[in-house]
Amino acid sequence: MSEPHTDDARSKVPWLVRMHYRMRTVAFAMMFGVIALHVGSDTKSPAFWSQMALLFLVYPHAQYLRTRRLGDPTGGELRNLRTDSVFLGMGVASIGFPLWITFSGLLGTLSNNTANKGWTGVAETLVAFPGGALIGCLLWGFHFTPDTDWPTTLFCIAGLTLYLTALGQVAFTRIQRLRLTREALQVRERELMNVNDALHRNLQEIDALQEQLREQANRDPLTGLYNRRYLDSTLERELSRCKRDGHSLALILIDIDHFKQVNDTYGHQAGDEILLRLSTLLGSMARAGDVACRYGGEEFLLLMPTMPLASAQERAEALRLSFGNLEVPFGDFRLCATLSIGIAAYPGHGTSADELIRHADTALYRAKRLGRNRVEL
Ligand code: GH3
Ligand code: MG
Ligand code: MG
Repeated sequence: MSEPHTDDARSKVPWLVRMHYRMRTVAFAMMFGVIALHVGSDTKSPAFWSQMALLFLVYPHAQYLRTRRLGDPTGGELRNLRTDSVFLGMGVASIGFPLWITFSGLLGTLSNNTANKGWTGVAETLVAFPGGALIGCLLWGFHFTPDTDWPTTLFCIAGLTLYLTALGQVAFTRIQRLRLTREALQVRERELMNVNDALHRNLQEIDALQEQLREQANRDPLTGLYNRRYLDSTLERELSRCKRDGHSLALILIDIDHFKQVNDTYGHQAGDEILLRLSTLLGSMARAGDVACRYGGEEFLLLMPTMPLASAQERAEALRLSFGNLEVPFGDFRLCATLSIGIAAYPGHGTSADELIRHADTALYRAKRLGRNRVEL
């Protein structure tokens, strides 16, 4: 049995049409045979036999050729089932409604229509079959000879059994194909879910990586503090927020004194150690909203939103003292250094980021000029 697919290539006739063509051809040929067997030696006109041949031998092929050319062959085939019932009704009327033949024809078409259309099929058969019988009576006159001889009866029983078995086999194939399709779909669904999960995980990884990249772009690789790039983007924002909320804002600019000498005397690595110690100290002093950043080589900046000038000064002083008291171990040496710090605060020293930085820089320069290791406003 070929596949019950109806959406194959356009040129291909749907499974339902091909299957019904085979079933109809055999069943209608059997109907012709049983009529011939029943009529036996009774004389019937050539016109009668021509009509029977048209109904039961030619019709299945003509119907197939017509249906396969329709835009919707499957829909057309389902409508053909009504014509089957009509023709079978005409056939049994033509030979006087022999009980076994009428029963076989009616049950055959009823079961097929029901299998294909459910209760609609039942209703259609119960209209179409008697309708066909009525047409038969009009064509050949009404007569009623219910009896059949035993060969005809046997033929009916065998034919009906064969037909219903074939119908059962078709239903079985359909159910089995459906089950296989459903299983294949379930496998596909699981695969799709796995792919979806993997995709979701990949997206999360990409998000995390992007976040990491963003973070790295804003950080100084040696100290891990924010870099100048980040400060530039943050300072304006923080300043606007403080202006809007009526808060002050302080920034302290820090430079290590005679740092070049440390590098020159103890080496670059020693200088790095001191930079790291200072950044740790700065990080520990920063509050939650503060931004500690490495502003240049050995220059650092601590941005403190909402911090008044006096408090900033206290903090800068504390930082200077802490750092001045630090002894940084480096090999056999204990390194010491001092800080010069310039402070500027909003609103006292300026209202724009540039102005504040410029003021802090000037203050830092003054601290250097006045002897280093000091805090200046
Ligand atoms: P001043 O007291 O006037 O600030 O003197 P200074 O020596 O600190 O100032 P100067 O600007 O002359 O020297 C800064 C030095 O900082 C020069 C440079 O080699 C050093 N430096 C900059 N970045 C790094 C770094 O990442 N690691 C180390 N070890 N040294 C650095
Ligand atoms: Mg410097
Ligand atoms: Mg310096």
